Amino acid sequence: MTMKGEILLDVKNLNIGFRTRQGYVNAVEKVDFSLMRGELLAFVGESGCGKSVTSLAVMGLIERPARVKADRIELLGVDMVSCTQEEIRKKRGAEMAMIFQDPLTSLNPLFTVGNQLSEQFMAHIPSCTKNDARERGIAIMRKMGIPRAEAVFGSFPHELSGGMRQRIMIAIAMCCSPALLIADEPTTALDVTIQAQILRLMRELMSEFGTSILFITHDLGVVAEMADRVIVMYTGQIVEEADVFTMFKDPRHPYTKGLLQSTIRVQDAEDRLTPIQGAVPSLGRLPGGCRFNPRCGYATGRCSETMPDLVEVGPGHYSRCLLAVEGVF
Ligand code: SF4
Repeated sequence: MTMKGEILLDVKNLNIGFRTRQGYVNAVEKVDFSLMRGELLAFVGESGCGKSVTSLAVMGLIERPARVKADRIELLGVDMVSCTQEEIRKKRGAEMAMIFQDPLTSLNPLFTVGNQLSEQFMAHIPSCTKNDARERGIAIMRKMGIPRAEAVFGSFPHELSGGMRQRIMIAIAMCCSPALLIADEPTTALDVTIQAQILRLMRELMSEFGTSILFITHDLGVVAEMADRVIVMYTGQIVEEADVFTMFKDPRHPYTKGLLQSTIRVQDAEDRLTPIQGAVPSLGRLPGGCRFNPRCGYATGRCSETMPDLVEVGPGHYSRCLLAVEGVF
């Protein structure tokens, strides 16, 4: 078992490719990151930048013909690259779990939430009986702040509100107190009040169970409130990484700066937002040099010729920008 400050998840040189009309394209390229025990690491970026697919690769949920290659995907000291599918299946639920974006489509509409909760306990605890699973299920639902847990246990997903369904999803994910919880836009479909409750609940789970969270979002307000560290992704590459204070105070990549400028803040709510021009390019038609150069207001001639490396620009602060490396940006 790892203690706080130890590396829980270590990913090295992760590449994910998909077959398209243009041949295999890399949706994720040379991604390295680690997650510490008890840490909340946020992945941010626009849709299609590789955040969700990175987390699915960690969970071992990407199947052929997609290609997943990595030097290392190490969880709790075990490299999952060399594990069999069966070994990874046993880790899912027990050591790592995932909360998906939309709880209505993630829960099985044909089974009660109680069935879906009990299944988790019975799959991972060999001695667990049906009655035992029911008691454990109701207990974890109470822990997730679900009122009338015994009645809700027998309900079908469509009978519950969005916030309640998301709590059920978190309860299912937390059944075996996994060391790693991946939350993929867990509050996107919820109104702000319920969103605040769910985020508070996740923070409580971190302190109670020592769970580390890999949090995927495009909502920088949530990042500011929740994250310890932030990774910004663009077209399948990490373009900036820093602790959350540094990222907000001193972004060193024009894409991160663009994301921050397009987010509303209370102190300048009257100002106009500045959107990032253009759109994320198709992975089969990536521009030469720095991939952000067609959208970057700071681009120079060199930017379309030279692909920048991810370089440390401050303690624990990395940027993939030619100008940041030279201290100009
Ligand atoms: Fe912009 Fe050039 Fe930096 Fe890329 S390398 S982010 S185009 S300034």
